[in-house]
Amino acid sequence: MIQKLKGTYDVFGDLSIKHDYVKKLFQAVCESYNYSYIETPIIERSELFHRGVGDTTDIVKKETYDFLDRGNRNNTLRPEGTAGIARAIIENKLYTILPQKLWYIGSMYRYERPQKGRYRELRQMGVEVYGSNNPIIDAEVISLGYNYLKELGLKNICVRINSIGGLETRNKYREALINHFKNNIDEFCDDCKERLNKNPLRILDCKIDNKNKILKNAPSILDYLNEEEKGNFDKIKKYLDILNIDYIVDDKLVRGLDYYTNIVFEYESNVKSIGAIGGGGRYDNLLNEIGGPSINAIGFALGMDRIIDVINEENITIPKDNNLDIYILTINESENEYALELAQNLRMCGYKVDLDITGKTMKNKFKESDRYNSKYIIIIGDEEVKTNMLVIRDNLTKEEEKIDVDNLIDYLDTHI
Ligand code: AMP
Repeated sequence: MIQKLKGTYDVFGDLSIKHDYVKKLFQAVCESYNYSYIETPIIERSELFHRGVGDTTDIVKKETYDFLDRGNRNNTLRPEGTAGIARAIIENKLYTILPQKLWYIGSMYRYERPQKGRYRELRQMGVEVYGSNNPIIDAEVISLGYNYLKELGLKNICVRINSIGGLETRNKYREALINHFKNNIDEFCDDCKERLNKNPLRILDCKIDNKNKILKNAPSILDYLNEEEKGNFDKIKKYLDILNIDYIVDDKLVRGLDYYTNIVFEYESNVKSIGAIGGGGRYDNLLNEIGGPSINAIGFALGMDRIIDVINEENITIPKDNNLDIYILTINESENEYALELAQNLRMCGYKVDLDITGKTMKNKFKESDRYNSKYIIIIGDEEVKTNMLVIRDNLTKEEEKIDVDNLIDYLDTHI
């Protein structure tokens, strides 16, 4: 038997209802903030991620699905959505009309060790805003994700925020961190040893060494921000207060991707064992780094699989609206043509309709209609075909009424 790959899973049944709901609500929330949908390919040139996301991030260094195509070109399955959208902004010159407020959803691929909350095929939903450095936008982006998660019903959503400053600030801070860690780096894990000179900020969010005292006493980036960066961060916090967003400032939050500048943030749920359910920040240099103009940008990505894991762990009920309106049964095969046409007409009037195709006994046919929780059943026999008078049964009360087919839509319009 051929089986699915490690770290991937199939979506069907109850899980597909959850996926559908989570996606549709995200779309609705994004639209309420005036974001438009963007979709980019799952497969891109490898170079995009090496230049865009950065060679020192784990997801590019160790976790990308890279392969040579038949023309010997290096391709990569996208590990995240931001770089592809940045490429699309440049290639389609979307930067000529700013701001661009975009939302996306899709599968990403990371060759990680599969475990709780960690998949190799993961789904992310996110937003990207290009063309504004107004802190109002930072607050809007953070609040969009927060309000969405609250609307889903997740409990105690908290946002951790930090500012990692611009390039100059980070270079100074980088030096301070190297000085702080260099004499004791032997106490840290191999990854941290490697990070010391390449990307010492990443030592701060090391999952292995996070209890280490030296790490806890590391200098704070917030003491290195210049006046403008500080003022900007203060404004964002003030706007978040106005919007009633539950946030905490965490000066150890640096995020895994190289492209961030200034504000960074992460969403956390009550279920800590699942890990962060989303994160984002500003990346004002990204477009320029991959060959486009310098344009401010900010965004986040939510981990859809993890959100669903939290929904399951917290037993959150998802509104189910997948019931059928009408299930049509035929008594003999000869009524199938009539039923087929009726089903099409009802569907065209906007009803959710299914048609019995089991060809089994009447008892089985009724059982089948129960499976779909249909509101009404219409039973068609030769009498109905001849007279065009249909028996419609309310599946809840089991009451039946006889209705002329010409009045059926009126009847349904008033009853459903
Ligand atoms: P990132 O793109 O790394 O900033 O991640 C954004 C969000 O995607 C995280 O907060 C997680 O919720 C989710 N995520 C990242 N990696 C995985 C993974 N391997 N499996 C499931 N969700 C993930």
